Amino acid sequence: MERKLVGIPASPGIAVGPVHLLRWEIPEVRHRIIPDDAVDGEIRRLHDAFDRAKVRLRQIRDRVEQRAGAQEAAIFDVQRSILEDAELISAVEALIRQNLGAEKAFEIVMLEWSQKFSRAAHPMLRERVGDLKDVEIRVLTLLLNLPDHDPVDVMKGANAIIVTHDLTPSLTVQLDRQAIAAIATDAGTRTSHVAILARSLGLPAIVGLRNATEELRGHETAILDGSTGLLAINPTHRDIESYRERARQEALAEVELKHLSSLESVTTDGVRITLRANVDLPEEAELAATSGAEGVGLMRTEFLVVGRASMPDEEEQYRAYRRVVQAFGGRPVVIRTFDVGGDKLPVGGYATEANPFLGWRAIRMCLDQPELFGVQLRALLRAAVHGDVRVMLPLVVTVDEVRSARALLDEAARTLESRGEQFRRDVPLGVMIETPAAAVAADSFVRDVNFFSIGTNDLVQYTLAVDRGNANLATRFTPLHPAVLRLIRRTVDTAIEHNLEVAVCGEMASQPLMAFALIGLGVRQLSVAPRSVPLVKRIVRGISVAVAEEAAGAALAVDTAAASEAELRRGLAAAGFVENV
Ligand code: PEP
Ligand code: MG
Repeated sequence: MERKLVGIPASPGIAVGPVHLLRWEIPEVRHRIIPDDAVDGEIRRLHDAFDRAKVRLRQIRDRVEQRAGAQEAAIFDVQRSILEDAELISAVEALIRQNLGAEKAFEIVMLEWSQKFSRAAHPMLRERVGDLKDVEIRVLTLLLNLPDHDPVDVMKGANAIIVTHDLTPSLTVQLDRQAIAAIATDAGTRTSHVAILARSLGLPAIVGLRNATEELRGHETAILDGSTGLLAINPTHRDIESYRERARQEALAEVELKHLSSLESVTTDGVRITLRANVDLPEEAELAATSGAEGVGLMRTEFLVVGRASMPDEEEQYRAYRRVVQAFGGRPVVIRTFDVGGDKLPVGGYATEANPFLGWRAIRMCLDQPELFGVQLRALLRAAVHGDVRVMLPLVVTVDEVRSARALLDEAARTLESRGEQFRRDVPLGVMIETPAAAVAADSFVRDVNFFSIGTNDLVQYTLAVDRGNANLATRFTPLHPAVLRLIRRTVDTAIEHNLEVAVCGEMASQPLMAFALIGLGVRQLSVAPRSVPLVKRIVRGISVAVAEEAAGAALAVDTAAASEAELRRGLAAAGFVENV
């Protein structure tokens, strides 16, 4: 092969295909002065680019409408209407008549519009800033004749490996998932939004490549190995053959693991470990239900909002939750209320924040917007009629938040009652333990909640002060740091003492070595990516709790994450797991 780029493995699987480079950023525009006699031609060029952009927007709109419905597709009508705005067109034309090149003229007007919109008092207008940016990128790409950058150009059947800086929500909706074989990004880590989404979609992915978009030109052939984080550029036939062989082996191993799905998740000394699935998209539910998972331990509802101009209404949410609940029969389905903001989805219309991770997000935002939250709570209570729904609150730091949420849940029940709607009132309410505050003061919640679920992705981030999405910090994101292990232990002990259920639903649970550690720390419920259910079950069925406790005790007693890892590996090896897990 010509060369290798190494990133962070984010979603397993091997893909071979052409690189499709997506630079969804505003390109650099040169200041170009044109002579008087070129003005008319330049204006024609502008209109031509607008027309082509509108054709593409219509294509995307139709595709999104088919896949996700009219409401989601409406964003692209809004973008098209920007290109039909007479005021905008005449402002750009006026600058061209002052002898500016079309792309510079357009850029200047878009800048003015963005500034005006972002200062607007009305959230609906502020919401349009993202659309303006997308429109600007699309038109400039056409005016500058930049090849290969438009998501619409990824054609069906191309089996493309998308290489982009970061897969933003706006890009995600534009992509035709059937045309994509794999994803590679400069930014991100295992626990960032793009990695979670790729795993949900079952697409092999590598993140944290740092500068792949600069290294590559597009159209190279590449092999992407989502298990090792390797992107091989212009591989030889032999390279491709050997990877195809590995892909066959992986597929065989998966089939091999599949037989575990019907076996019990119980340790060699007879302790049952409940394995549930993390479900991010309702479409995933049916497949996840065949993984051997005993219910859903975390449904991330914010993915319902990806790339949309507005929140889904009660009926749409109700149907999405019901779909997941029904896929899992009567088994428990833990649905988390919207965790928007921060690293998740910047929902349109809200001001950007200097510190989004410490910002107005998740439960904070929901409690401050009781109407928006009420819609979700009503949909959840209605879906609860169809099975064992449990409601979970994200990013909680104080029990006051739980009490306020419970009051809103009661109010939602009253509203449904007055409407004569079918619903269940007594749904269990739990909290995610994902801040040091919640872990240290876990006892302050015990009278007000029905269960805990430890979100290790955020718990690690907030405990170690390491941004979970920052590729430069990926090696510092160490779930086995003594501080994290102690917080988990403390939370589990508190739960056991007060007879509360406690699960772990962060990435730690999906990784076999860490799952072993968690069992040793006393955790008896793990919620993992559907594909990880058999992998983790294999560990569960091969170890005893006694061995796990001993290894976790040793891991807690040492002073670095690396030393903890070594202790755990020793423990697993003692249990007969010789290969690298
Ligand atoms: C977590 O923080 O561990 C978690 C499960 O939630 P998310 O990854 O969605 O923040
Ligand atoms: Mg979280």
